[in-house]
Amino acid sequence: MKFSRAGIAAGVFVVLCGACGSGGGRNVRASDTATGAAHEHHAPHGGTLVELGEEAAHLELVLDSAAGSLTAYPLDGEAEQSVRVRAARIDIQLSVAGERLRPLALMAVASPLTGDTEQESAEYRASLELLKGAASVSGTIDSVAVRGVGYHDVVFTCHARPPG
Ligand SMILES: [Zn+2]
Repeated sequence: MKFSRAGIAAGVFVVLCGACGSGGGRNVRASDTATGAAHEHHAPHGGTLVELGEEAAHLELVLDSAAGSLTAYPLDGEAEQSVRVRAARIDIQLSVAGERLRPLALMAVASPLTGDTEQESAEYRASLELLKGAASVSGTIDSVAVRGVGYHDVVFTCHARPPG
């Protein structure tokens, strides 16, 4: 995987975790070994877990290449509980199939069932023709604030969710 590293803000610690972090399997970090805690999470929606901070929170990305959509679910540090984010959108820079980065806005999905609104939601989504049939996408999350902590220029790679 190739990323542009230029956009990574100083001081932001970026680690991919979950199924897609390092070519399959899981990521175990040195700090985890030191504390004895295994760094292993289950992506609740079958997507890719992107770590925010040092296990402070996660963003699960789900690439549905059949529908041509990319969905982000903010999650807690254990990647188990949904976390509602107070934002109308999450802006990202997206590269499809290794092509040039392009800006994309994932918009808050409102749901009467969960109480999510277009201003405050636990689910953000964008549809893009380019995503149809895409095996993977990569890029950076411009910024997202989870539980009052802001994370910037977070690098991610996400493979299409397997069908079924
Ligand atoms: Zn994690």
